[in-house]
Amino acid sequence: ERLQEYLEHRAPTIDESALSRLVVLAGPTAVGKGTVSTFIRENHPEVCLSVSATTRAPRPGEVDGVSYYFLDDAEFDRMIADGEFLEWAVVHNKSRYGTPRPPIDRALAEGKSVLLEIDIQGARQVKEAMPEATLVFLLPPSWDELVRRLIGRGTESAEEQERRLSTARVELAAQSEFDHRVVNSDVEAAAREVVELMRIQKAIDLHGKE
Ligand code: 5GP
Repeated sequence: ERLQEYLEHRAPTIDESALSRLVVLAGPTAVGKGTVSTFIRENHPEVCLSVSATTRAPRPGEVDGVSYYFLDDAEFDRMIADGEFLEWAVVHNKSRYGTPRPPIDRALAEGKSVLLEIDIQGARQVKEAMPEATLVFLLPPSWDELVRRLIGRGTESAEEQERRLSTARVELAAQSEFDHRVVNSDVEAAAREVVELMRIQKAIDLHGKE
């Protein structure tokens, strides 16, 4: 039993080409990253969607271990100290969010494709740590549409909306750092495009090993 646990928790060795199967989906606030990744989770079980850890409180309906791992500050600090995050960041000047590394290494070692839905600061850290990772930037059809979506969802105060829009303006400028850009006019079409990119990356990886 101990051995089993050891084998499960030991970091598997993965070759560099496997890292191209690690796909990061990022983009400005309210662009619909969450909706696109939820669609992928529900319709493409072959894609392994990473579950982040966060210090923010769960919203109604969110399940620990599914939406996020909800941690307190001390636990989050412990994970940082133990080097268990691939990346982590403070998002919207509030809570901390991070990507636990061991599940990703395991999935990649098993030949799966892994999708991370994280913010732009996180995407940059992943690129730094793993230059072979594939970065996808999700774009709104237009600036006006982004404003409409942010205001339309009505989850933020007017002040918070202002703050997020000014962040979004800066974030949109980061799109050139990404390998691919996908316009989110329609959730299903955008999700299909992301999944297609993941298939291509997987084919490239397999081909490289022949
Ligand atoms: P929410 O609190 O609305 O679920 O997420 C807020 C923001 O945190 C989103 O932009 C989401 O992409 C980002 N986020 C979620 N998980 C992570 C993570 O593990 N790392 C980073 N850097 N950002 C994350």
